[in-house]
Amino acid sequence: MRSVVLAVLFGTALVLVSSPLNRPEVRVRTIIIDAGHGGKDPGAVSRKVKEKNITLAVALKLGKIIKQRMPEVKVIFTRSTDKFIPLEERSAIANRNQGNLFISIHCNSLPSKPSVTGTETYVLGMHKSQASLEVAKRENRSITFEEDYQEKYEGFDPNSEEAYIIFSLYQHEFLTQSIQLASLIEQQMKHKTQRRSRGVRQAGFLVLWRTQMPSVLTEIGFLTNPRDRAFLSSAKGQQKVAEAIFAAVKAYKAHEEAQ
Ligand SMILES: [Zn+2]
Repeated sequence: MRSVVLAVLFGTALVLVSSPLNRPEVRVRTIIIDAGHGGKDPGAVSRKVKEKNITLAVALKLGKIIKQRMPEVKVIFTRSTDKFIPLEERSAIANRNQGNLFISIHCNSLPSKPSVTGTETYVLGMHKSQASLEVAKRENRSITFEEDYQEKYEGFDPNSEEAYIIFSLYQHEFLTQSIQLASLIEQQMKHKTQRRSRGVRQAGFLVLWRTQMPSVLTEIGFLTNPRDRAFLSSAKGQQKVAEAIFAAVKAYKAHEEAQ
């Protein structure tokens, strides 16, 4: 009799121990997809190609893939139409919906060097090069389309180099995870879109400032480069970029949930 009870207890213990292995916990439940710019803010413009349209097209394609292939994951778009959304509202949407990942999609621009091509993915932090600072300045200028932006962003002047010193003191709580996702995006982007990866970088992007989850900003190519511009303007190119980001999300999710 006693041995039966022990066996039952032992059996229960085994089930308890093995259940996390059989059914991994879903840790990436909600993904926030942020299409850069929109409405009165076109973002970078090159030969009539507007960043806001490319980022929206890629964001919608990425969302569709996630919904189809990861039905357990909820997708939240900060915008799904050509609408202006303030930067602080984007992070507020992410926090309000308790996102587990925040992916901001943008296009690069370097009119003085049209030969420069490829992708770079950023996490929030202090820039280590003038080039990264210039990218953050350009992206942060979106706030100048907002009313009372100086009050809303505590006097932050996107054009002042000194303003970016605050990011040297700032350590994002989810920095390690953000870097991990950024690395996966760069790897997959190189693999699936066959373009140069310019690597993972850090800079002071306001849109990543207040998000309470692993957060990245990916620059999916240079609109000032003729080949990148043609690629990003095509539905096929946009789909490839979305597939690359999805592959990175999938690998990140599997890694997170295996622990
Ligand atoms: Zn942008």
